[in-house]
Amino acid sequence: MRDTCVLVKSSFSKTRTTTRTTRTTRTKSSSSSKEVSKSDILYAHVENAEHDSLGHPECAARIPAILEKLENDSEFFLERKKDQSIVLLENPPLATVEDLVPLDIHSQNYMKSLEFLAKTKAPCQIDASTYMTPSSFEAALASIGASNALVDAVLKGKTKTGFALVRPPGHHAVVKGPMGFCLFNTAAAAVRYAQTQYPNDIKKVLVYDFDVHHGNGTNDIFAKDPTVLFVSTHEDGSFPGTGKISDIGQDEGEGTNINVPLPTGAGEKSVLEAFDLVVEPAARRFQPDFIVVSAGYDAHWRDPLANLNFRSRTYHYLSSRLKKLSEDLCDGKIVFLLEGGYDLTGLPEGVAESFAALVGEKSLEQKDPGLFEEPFEKAKKVIQEVKSVHQLL
Ligand SMILES: [Zn+2]
Repeated sequence: MRDTCVLVKSSFSKTRTTTRTTRTTRTKSSSSSKEVSKSDILYAHVENAEHDSLGHPECAARIPAILEKLENDSEFFLERKKDQSIVLLENPPLATVEDLVPLDIHSQNYMKSLEFLAKTKAPCQIDASTYMTPSSFEAALASIGASNALVDAVLKGKTKTGFALVRPPGHHAVVKGPMGFCLFNTAAAAVRYAQTQYPNDIKKVLVYDFDVHHGNGTNDIFAKDPTVLFVSTHEDGSFPGTGKISDIGQDEGEGTNINVPLPTGAGEKSVLEAFDLVVEPAARRFQPDFIVVSAGYDAHWRDPLANLNFRSRTYHYLSSRLKKLSEDLCDGKIVFLLEGGYDLTGLPEGVAESFAALVGEKSLEQKDPGLFEEPFEKAKKVIQEVKSVHQLL
């Protein structure tokens, strides 16, 4: 049984976060893609093997399972790596607290407390579902470093799409603390990084979150911000219970949070309807300069933590729609960041489908999984209500 960690005020080391033993010092981003023509996908993987907890679904086996599927069971992947339309970003840089402070995502007190806990109390539980090991603080920073390096590569025109295979996930993390397996909000950091590092080019950002759970952290961080359109499709009533249709943002940000809570059991037909009737028209109306995707794969029918019924190929359809949308609206500038996905067959299959879509390959799914009929009429009613609340034609 783990100890319970308590987030407390603490003295905060002013020194830069030390580089992990498995990493070299900070490297320039996208070094592996420098002389080649623009790749279709530049991807990075940050396993964070020491951020692990026995029996926990957010486990260190997730990233290796994805890589195994891509490298050993997806013919197109090796072919596309050979012709350099898929390129690996090697040794992505580790972010530091000093990198995070100007992004203004998390309170400094929270970041100080988390570092203190990692040094003094870990391993322990921070809340009912979020664990902390001595390496977790650096793990969360490593995920942000890799994600932001991919943002750089996309915005500097070195690749069409960035894909960050990182963990822990981030979209539940709120300003003042961790939540739901998440320590730092990686998607929010990517948005703010793009806006602060490329202020002339990136003013408005769309975040689309297709994780089965509502991205409450990202939703709340940008609730009052009219420059960020946050759109989420998720299972109604699943953790953490937020993401109702009525949550539309506040003050100047009113209307720029769009939540589509799909009924339990909903699947491919429902989410594609939601994409075509809500996500796409809202994005076209908003006209983003850049798109960040909170790419969680736990709406897959195999996933143990929730009850939507996406097929593996559903992620192909969603990813190809997102690619097309980014090409139409913002010169193809899009970055996918891994969030949830806890079934070690469903998660790799879903990610492989996304990769296939992003390089123009057809879906890899061979067999119809024979799912029960989804509650499409119920989903349609939800989608109609969202359209009406947000005045989408
Ligand atoms: Zn999730």
